[in-house]
Amino acid sequence: LKFEELEINPSIIRAVEAMGFEEMSPIQAKAIPIVLQGRDIVGQAQTGTGKTAAFGIPLLQKVDVKNKSLQAIVLCPTRELAIQVADEVRKLAQFMHGIKVLPVYGGQEISKQIRSLKSGVQIIIGTPGRVMDHMRRKTVRFDNVNMVILDEADEMLNMGFREDIETILSQVPEERQTVLFSATMPGPILEIARTYQNNAEMIRV
Ligand code: AMP
Repeated sequence: LKFEELEINPSIIRAVEAMGFEEMSPIQAKAIPIVLQGRDIVGQAQTGTGKTAAFGIPLLQKVDVKNKSLQAIVLCPTRELAIQVADEVRKLAQFMHGIKVLPVYGGQEISKQIRSLKSGVQIIIGTPGRVMDHMRRKTVRFDNVNMVILDEADEMLNMGFREDIETILSQVPEERQTVLFSATMPGPILEIARTYQNNAEMIRV
């Protein structure tokens, strides 16, 4: 499947070409059409399969660039992954105007993050602990969040983030799309899927 065969914003197609992607990877070919339809998915995929663009492309497609409020949250297990995912999403957004993507993770000065958050960030990509911290300080508002992505969900549970993830999911409006990626599917992941997703489609590669 080629990217231009789907209804994807031409600026995103241009970015994908600039990044040297020709065809969709198997996880992208399965996940992107379903997420673009607005459905929830549980995707079983390892690192290196192209899962970042599998959620990053529909994520960018769904952001309303005219609206400067927070619209999407991507949760990742580590600061390194948050930075890496933010880099890839920014590359995918390089030809779109008016999109702000901010990585937020522990260890980085919170006052600096708060200043950045005030400048109209539509997508935050962060670790659950720090996102929770901003939620408690009310430095982020979830009212307009309509998409949550859990990346490497099994790793997040291994790192002890289950409670934080559940708190965040319960604070985001229910009228949202929830996309979950995980390399493995232990019981607690399926429980989170059952509790916080809506009739999710299972995808594996
Ligand atoms: P990920 O699994 O998301 O960490 O992606 C692994 C690597 O594959 C990254 O360097 C991506 O930029 C690259 N990549 C993702 N999708 C494609 C694609 N469709 N064609 C070629 N490379 C890709």
